Amino acid sequence: MVLDFVTPTPLGTSWGLGGTCVNVGCIPKKLMHQAALLGQALQDSRKFGWQFSEEVEHNWMTMTESVQNHIGSLNWGYRVALREKKVTYENAYGEFVGPHTVKATNKRGVEKLYTAERFLIATGERPRYLGIPGDKEYCISSDDLFSLPYCPGKTLVVGASYPASTPYVPRTSGLSKKVNGV
Ligand SMILES: Cc1cc2nc3c(=O)[nH]c(=O)nc-3n(C[C@H](O)[C@H](O)[C@H](O)COP(=O)(O)OP(=O)(O)OC[C@H]3O[C@@H](n4cnc5c(N)ncnc54)[C@H](O)[C@@H]3O)c2cc1C
Repeated sequence: MVLDFVTPTPLGTSWGLGGTCVNVGCIPKKLMHQAALLGQALQDSRKFGWQFSEEVEHNWMTMTESVQNHIGSLNWGYRVALREKKVTYENAYGEFVGPHTVKATNKRGVEKLYTAERFLIATGERPRYLGIPGDKEYCISSDDLFSLPYCPGKTLVVGASYPASTPYVPRTSGLSKKVNGV
């Protein structure tokens, strides 16, 4: 069986089966990056002779809906794959209460105990807020970005490596500066 549970972000964002990469990591990052590449290609295309009279605008909600629809189809695919392999999926938070016993608590607070000879722990990690005044008021993490219902506008990215490569979102949205390794 598999236990997978997402503790909501401070903004209340939560997601489905598949972990960080699928829901709030690699996959939505690459889709948003593709959106940025398309915007850039449109700009570059004029230099290569393409002419279009209408003003090109970017719609953040359309992009976010497409990203979330794609993620939804993957979530569903994983559930089906688990069912086909006869793996029980519990959307519940696991805690060891003994060397061979895990307590699983679902979002309604219903608790179940499961015992097994062996467990595989693969809990991943979550972004952390900076712990400075104003962080919760003025910052969001990548956990909230991909389903954000509005374009965040001019943005300072604090972070490094592939999570921080995320917000090279459409240039029309004015996203800008990245601070590495903070
Ligand atoms: C914005 C962003 C972009 C990224 N881009 C890339 C990329 O382009 N390429 C790349 O290779 N990597 C990328 N990564 C990193 C990649 O997403 C992670 O390395 C990978 O998802 C880690 O997998 P995991 O299985 O260890 O953990 P996770 O995918 O985090 O899975 C752990 C799961 O366990 C759940 N869980 C945790 N505790 C419990 C508990 N007690 N009970 C039940 N369930 C629990 C979590 O909710 C989660 O669903 C990116 C990450 C981010 C944040």
